[in-house]
Amino acid sequence: MAVQVTESTTAPATPDASAASVDLGPAAALSCRECGERFDLGPIFACALCFGPLEVAYDLPTGDPQALRERIETGPNSIWRYAPLLPVPADVASKPNLNPGLTPLVKADRLAGELGVTGGLYVKDDSGNPTHSFKDRVVAIAVEAARAFGFTTLSCSSTGNLAGAVGAAAARAGFRSCVFIPHDLEAGKVVMAAVYGGELVAIEGTYDDVNRFCSELIGDSLGEGWGFVNVNLRPYYGEGSKTLAYEICEQLGWEIPDQIVIPIASGSQLTKIDKGLKELIKLGLVEDKPYKIFGAQAEGCSPVSRAFKDGHDVVRPVKPNTIAKSLAIGNPADGPYVLDIARRTGGAVEDVTDEQVVDAIKLLARTEGIFAETAGGVTVGVTRKLIETGQLDPARTTVVLNTGDGLKTLDAVAPTTGPTATIKPSLDAFRAAGLAG
Ligand SMILES: *Cc1c(COP(=O)(O)O)cnc(C)c1O
Ligand SMILES: [Zn+2]
Repeated sequence: MAVQVTESTTAPATPDASAASVDLGPAAALSCRECGERFDLGPIFACALCFGPLEVAYDLPTGDPQALRERIETGPNSIWRYAPLLPVPADVASKPNLNPGLTPLVKADRLAGELGVTGGLYVKDDSGNPTHSFKDRVVAIAVEAARAFGFTTLSCSSTGNLAGAVGAAAARAGFRSCVFIPHDLEAGKVVMAAVYGGELVAIEGTYDDVNRFCSELIGDSLGEGWGFVNVNLRPYYGEGSKTLAYEICEQLGWEIPDQIVIPIASGSQLTKIDKGLKELIKLGLVEDKPYKIFGAQAEGCSPVSRAFKDGHDVVRPVKPNTIAKSLAIGNPADGPYVLDIARRTGGAVEDVTDEQVVDAIKLLARTEGIFAETAGGVTVGVTRKLIETGQLDPARTTVVLNTGDGLKTLDAVAPTTGPTATIKPSLDAFRAAGLAG
């Protein structure tokens, strides 16, 4: 399979990265997703042999699944209940962190009615995380790696939500932070990225330009001692997304749903949800059964959807132009793996227009009282389209992800929402407005 290598492979000099001193719980090594070569745990992200991306390999707990289930169920009300399956030290919950996760899995009956889903429809609503997006999950894991490797500055290239999540986590855990964003983000995301007191640098370019810049910084002495959560700590960062799979299954009574609709930016979240499901099966925590994974993009940034529909294995980069800025990555690092997973599981990758995104945000708000950011509009809109085109089976249990809070992307819906009427404070005026009863 073709792999895109867009990142520098030079590891920075780090203060304290000797493998012997690293305690990341059950994490045993890093392994190459292409050739399988293993490396000691460290702040590296590309295979020295084939440049393939690295991922965390584990010594996972063995033994009685029922005992492990109980241990998880009586654990902390956060992602740390899954610490035995994550690259974190056993005492992680006692360290200063934001304790993200264990967000609601909402049974969305009214939305199901509108979409014609009869097999059970759920929204995994991650808008209630500490910085109001799913990114708190991945950052929390990266922070533990940063601690283990002795970094003192946390950094990232961000489409918006990650910058806020890194700023907040750094503030809480006592790191310096310096984060990088494209210059044209939503006001709510810029404020959230800045308010935690770290350094925020707006780059005149797209996210892909920001990401390339960060890769150069890592290879340069300017970036020495810096942990870029989604670049040189990416193998660890990615593991945070597995917790979505764990939570969904636990909340369904330790069952895998038939279909899951997941937004795609770099594609990391989608690939790690699949990894998490496979681990649950391997550990005997859930019964092995087929499931379908669907990827969702905005039409204005749909390189993976394009490749899926064209039957290609490689993802041709695009220049993003969409209101779904949190998903606006034109050259998604995990694109080829997303294609693999969608095809292997019998799912699909689909996209919707910005107008459909706005409609879907309002549909979810009107039917379930959940105000999603544009990424949630993308997944709900794509779910509707997948049903209409017969790609998603409405008679099967379906989980749709909402990965962020609508308050961060008010501009997307502001032009088409507002007061039903503006009146004088009198009963006559209200009667005249025709809203009584
Ligand atoms: C970052 C992000 C995603 C997914 O990102 P991946 O790079 O694909 O893991 C999804 N939704 C929101 C709101 C995000 O901020
Ligand atoms: Zn390799």
